[in-house]
Amino acid sequence: MAIFEVLENADASKTIRLKSPVDMSAIGEFTVTTPEQVKAAVVKAKKAQIAWAALSYQQRAEHLARLQKVLLDSTDEIMATIAKDSGKADMECIAEVIGACDATQYYAKHAGKMLKDTSKRPHLFFGMKKLVRTYKPKGVVGIITPWNFPFATTIVPTVQALMAGNAVVVKPSEVTPFSGQLLAELVKRAGIPDGIVQVLLGDGSTGAALCEAGVDKIHFTGSVRTGKIVGEVCARQLISATLELGGKDPAIVCADADLDRAVKGVANGALFNTGQVCASTERIYVVEAVYDEFIKGLVAEVKSLRQNSGDADVSCMIWDKQLTMIETQIKDATDKGAQVLAGGQRQQGRDGLFLEPTILVNVDHTMLIMTDETFGPVLPVMKVANEEEAILMANDSPYGLSGSVWTADNKRGLQMAKQLDSGGCGVNEFGGNVYGCHEGSFGGSKESGLGYVNGEIGLKSFCKVQHILIHKFGPKNEGNWFPYEVKTVEDMKKFLKFMFGTAIGRWLS
Ligand code: NAD
Repeated sequence: MAIFEVLENADASKTIRLKSPVDMSAIGEFTVTTPEQVKAAVVKAKKAQIAWAALSYQQRAEHLARLQKVLLDSTDEIMATIAKDSGKADMECIAEVIGACDATQYYAKHAGKMLKDTSKRPHLFFGMKKLVRTYKPKGVVGIITPWNFPFATTIVPTVQALMAGNAVVVKPSEVTPFSGQLLAELVKRAGIPDGIVQVLLGDGSTGAALCEAGVDKIHFTGSVRTGKIVGEVCARQLISATLELGGKDPAIVCADADLDRAVKGVANGALFNTGQVCASTERIYVVEAVYDEFIKGLVAEVKSLRQNSGDADVSCMIWDKQLTMIETQIKDATDKGAQVLAGGQRQQGRDGLFLEPTILVNVDHTMLIMTDETFGPVLPVMKVANEEEAILMANDSPYGLSGSVWTADNKRGLQMAKQLDSGGCGVNEFGGNVYGCHEGSFGGSKESGLGYVNGEIGLKSFCKVQHILIHKFGPKNEGNWFPYEVKTVEDMKKFLKFMFGTAIGRWLS
């Protein structure tokens, strides 16, 4: 049974009717925003952005401080809306609220410092001038988001774009629209000016329309397949796109790992948010020497987890389409010789989308479960001879989002992490936690994405950079100004030889 149904209305508009993934009860419906309405929203945003960009960082931070207060006052309402959209466990609903508050506070506090003008004395060639670098807002940013963190993935880039002086138009996933809709309401309650944050409910057609509605940047979070389409559309218009895409993150358990920590960390990394995390642990490579003990611990840990919505450890899948895809991957693996040590099927006797946490062994890279993104509660574990083989296997993937290394030796862990072709990694830590650590930035290598969100690099991606060169002192008639003279060319030849042909010249420059 599908969680959403698309109805064609008499006036050619579309209505999407949604069911809860917990029990398939009706939870609401919305009308898909049309391309004309998307265009009108972008025009409105452009007008509103002018006054917003004129505010100081301090003034924008004051708006965000009010938003943060509204977030705090509305915690239960936000959690209930996320739960309605997704059926998540309580802990995972509160995790989204914490992530939202942390990002709002962090960028309100630090964006002004990160984006302030810098002034540099250039190298000797331009030594008599001053260079000023300034960050300006892009204008209007389109933010397109997925269904796995329906609140956090909308608000976290939004607050960064706002602090940088942009207006945003957000298009949440059609699978979990109500969390995005609530963001619009909370922004209103915080008194953020009309037109600065608009949320448009819709499906892929709305997202596609947003990419071509005259925005100045698209911040896209979603699948590789859609990300490539969005990237092409933006490239054609020469507008920038940040693409935060899928992953197939490896965990490497070394021979010297603290196995208790590794078992708990790997289980949590794979099953947090029911595995519906871009940086979820989706492939586990365990060195032969500790394989049997690790598997024994992992099976015990996974079997001890309580599966339900609300007060539980692991909840349901959010979208039936993804669940069906995972079942195909599990069948492909078992058909090719994989063995199921836990789970492997839907929870019996209930209507919701509950796939039992599943451990698979005897897996290899001929199986979809080891090559394609799963995005669900499955832990395929592969025995490897040593750490070198684990790194080779880990890098044998078109994805490169994050990963983790479990070892008693943090120094060696760091060296191993550096050998992974990924945008992030954890050492004795779930690599996905890099997302919440705003001193860093989050982004993917290979097919996992282009560009970064969060941190200074992510914040600056919402800006245009301008460099201004200011004349300070020096000859009135600079060497390359008209009229060109024979003598100047001769002087330049001497300058060239001195500057680039002598040790002192090279040192000076
Ligand atoms: P998706 O690509 O199907 O949809 C994402 C969003 O794009 C939705 O809002 C959808 O309506 C919209 N969309 C669809 N077609 C479009 C088009 N042609 N133009 C513009 N927008 C369009 O992805 P999904 O299934 O919602 O999300 C799951 C994926 O998101 C997974 O692959 C997951 O790994 C990835 N993800 C990545 C990150 C990250 O930070 N790297 C975070 C969360 C999720």
